[in-house]
Amino acid sequence: MMETCERCGKQSAKLEKCGYCKRRICVSCIKSARRKKVGRLYICKDCWGNIPKRKKFKSYNYRLQ
Ligand SMILES: [Zn+2]
Ligand SMILES: [Zn+2]
Repeated sequence: MMETCERCGKQSAKLEKCGYCKRRICVSCIKSARRKKVGRLYICKDCWGNIPKRKKFKSYNYRLQ
């Protein structure tokens, strides 16, 4: 089943949720990902451009969550 990316509007079979703006985004809108205790934490290109969000993402440590 195809879904629509909430950032770029592209149709994709696999969307991931940005951990910061909570939008469902396609692979080309994902800037980076980090390992979580369960699954992965994603950040979109828009949130990456937001310095406080980017800092939070970079300091994310799954062992401490
Ligand atoms: Zn997209
Ligand atoms: Zn985002």
